[in-house]
Amino acid sequence: MRLLLVEDDPDLSRQLKDLLEEAGYAVDVSFDGEDGHFLGESENYDAVILDLGLPVMDGVSVLKKWRDADRDMPVLVLTARDNWSDKVAGLDAGADDYVTKPFQVEEVLARVRALIRRSVGQASPELKCGPVVLDTISGKVRIDGRPVRLTAQEYKLLSYMMHHPDKVISRTELTEHIYDQDFDRDSNTIEVFINRIRKKTSNDLIRTVRGLGYQLDGERS
Ligand code: CA
Repeated sequence: MRLLLVEDDPDLSRQLKDLLEEAGYAVDVSFDGEDGHFLGESENYDAVILDLGLPVMDGVSVLKKWRDADRDMPVLVLTARDNWSDKVAGLDAGADDYVTKPFQVEEVLARVRALIRRSVGQASPELKCGPVVLDTISGKVRIDGRPVRLTAQEYKLLSYMMHHPDKVISRTELTEHIYDQDFDRDSNTIEVFINRIRKKTSNDLIRTVRGLGYQLDGERS
């Protein structure tokens, strides 16, 4: 799962980025509205965290432009304390949720998790596919109750697939959703990750759809 964080306060940005990365998200950061708008329009994010008070272009304008251009990723806005009109403006511009400053960074994490879940139609924080269970809160994976140790990249890949259980997902799409923009991307490594996940979980878990990509196969596993 890949996130965009648009926040001009460098300390808060760093704090949020660290926490989100630790939780298994690939995170791109932007420090002003114009750059943030560009990234949100040109890259595919699973969710966006958008501060409303931003230099160059304010957050509400950024959000309106994305929605006008039919960019429909879930957006969590960060608003100033006691400013109810900000919350209204943010929600009316197309935000899915908001957090009021100052906040505990863990609250942002929990809201992002919920937004992503809802956006893909998953109600429970525990994602299940056959014998495999992925707990999006603890970041732990189990198969038949037994813990599975995955590397950070393997977890990102499996998490993306388990958020989209029936979809045939191309290597390009997987690449876009497990790496941040600074990462030296190589779609050939996707196959390596897939094979490692199969070895660690079950050979039947991920089906190769020739020429198209991969699909979770919960029925057979
Ligand atoms: Ca700000």
